[in-house]
Amino acid sequence: MDRWKWVAVRAYGPAAFALLVAVVSVVVLSRWQATPLLAGFVVVGRWVPLLALAATLWLVAMPTYRLAQWQRGQGLDCPRCGGPLGHERIGHQRMGGAYRRCYACGDNVNHRHYE
Ligand SMILES: [Zn+2]
Repeated sequence: MDRWKWVAVRAYGPAAFALLVAVVSVVVLSRWQATPLLAGFVVVGRWVPLLALAATLWLVAMPTYRLAQWQRGQGLDCPRCGGPLGHERIGHQRMGGAYRRCYACGDNVNHRHYE
């Protein structure tokens, strides 16, 4: 895969997974409704697809915002390849603390390099 396909996979992969969870939970809940023993769980389980869809929207909106900022030259660049960086993750103190993963090369960039 070329560089921009990897950017799409790294940026929108979590959103695709959340959408998959929503679809699978709808299918599972529809089967549970037919079973009298599991019908009680459907009331609580109805929230799972809604929460998964909300997570999908969030996981599409945030990378899109970061990519748009990067394209305008206002986002954070990877010091190694110049690609857009993902969300900040909490890192171990002994490894240097917070970091972001580059959408293009997959490299972990310590917060000292983008702050
Ligand atoms: Zn990079």
